[in-house]
Amino acid sequence: MNVSPSAAGNTVAKRHIAPIIGVLAVQGDFAEHIRMLESLGVEGREVRLPADLDGVSGLVLPGGESTAMRKLLHRWDLVKPIKALAKRGAPILGTCAGAILLATKIADGDEPVLSLLDVEVRRNAFGRQLESFETSLVMEGLGNEGRSRTIQAVFIRAPEIVKVGPSARAVATLEDGRIVAARQGRILGIAFHPEITGETGVHRWLVAEATAALG
Ligand code: GLN
Repeated sequence: MNVSPSAAGNTVAKRHIAPIIGVLAVQGDFAEHIRMLESLGVEGREVRLPADLDGVSGLVLPGGESTAMRKLLHRWDLVKPIKALAKRGAPILGTCAGAILLATKIADGDEPVLSLLDVEVRRNAFGRQLESFETSLVMEGLGNEGRSRTIQAVFIRAPEIVKVGPSARAVATLEDGRIVAARQGRILGIAFHPEITGETGVHRWLVAEATAALG
């Protein structure tokens, strides 16, 4: 073979350290997340069946319609394997509807789905005039060495995090004090969509955490 030992060595090392990030692909804007991951040089894998989670070191639960996603998660037996993935220390990013799936409590009746993030969320909390809006906000823990970073966020019929329980921490709020992101270890729920503004910070965080979890 015409490959120098050092080049071959690099290929092997790369294969070992590069995480594969799963993106729940039952409904919603999963394609944008896959594109975002690919733009960062990371393999994003569509997850529809429990077997798709094999070899995955991190997971995105995208935005969409949480009622439809909840039904499909149950129908396709994905609830248990996603919880098991979290238990193994893999990071999980839930955006918008995805954050609703992570919450331990959903205001006004709905049963929680994954219960991995100790927060209460209220669906469609931003009312008619503000159904969609874009803003910049400061998010804790995304910058170098866990520093805060200002990011560009789009809200689309977004939920609000109305309560943060003792196991989680609020990591981003709007100017009026409403909580729009919370974290519990490697579980991060955000009410907004970073994938459609070209904001890479949140996905970089996920990849870094997945790489750390692999190590
Ligand atoms: N309003 C949707 C829900 O409650 C979430 C919207 C979104 O993910 N952009 O499921």
